[in-house]
Amino acid sequence: MTTRLSPHFTLEELCKSGVALRHGIDNTPHGPERARIVENLTRLCREILEPVRAHFGTPFAPNSGYRCLELNRLIGSQDTSQHLKGEAVDFEVPEVANGALAVWIRDTLAFDQLILEMYTPGEAASGWVHCSLTGDANRGQTLTIDRQGTQPGLLV
Ligand SMILES: [Zn+2]
Repeated sequence: MTTRLSPHFTLEELCKSGVALRHGIDNTPHGPERARIVENLTRLCREILEPVRAHFGTPFAPNSGYRCLELNRLIGSQDTSQHLKGEAVDFEVPEVANGALAVWIRDTLAFDQLILEMYTPGEAASGWVHCSLTGDANRGQTLTIDRQGTQPGLLV
């Protein structure tokens, strides 16, 4: 049984993780936080992923959406990551350079934090885009993160 969050995205897609599967971690939201996490993921799907899909016209599945604490720690992410709350998603769109994808989001959508991660300008498929969205005060912050560190703005 799948839980649809928006016309083209499901809860299962937003929770799927190869690392979790390989380590036997159940990466679906449970307990009292589940409703809030599903609400946050639904907001991401409707306000970020669906507009991206509609604009570029290409089906895609996110790389990483919700992460339970165990999975998040396993991959070396900080406990403050918005992925833990279902407020962030990492994704790519086939045939679209990640730099161009990030720029389109920056110029078009409301978001909390937009990060172009591990992108090499000129290499369209390099890296990925991290985008977060919350239910209230969204910062509209853009960052570029690579092996050199974190820099403000989108370096494309
Ligand atoms: Zn991320």
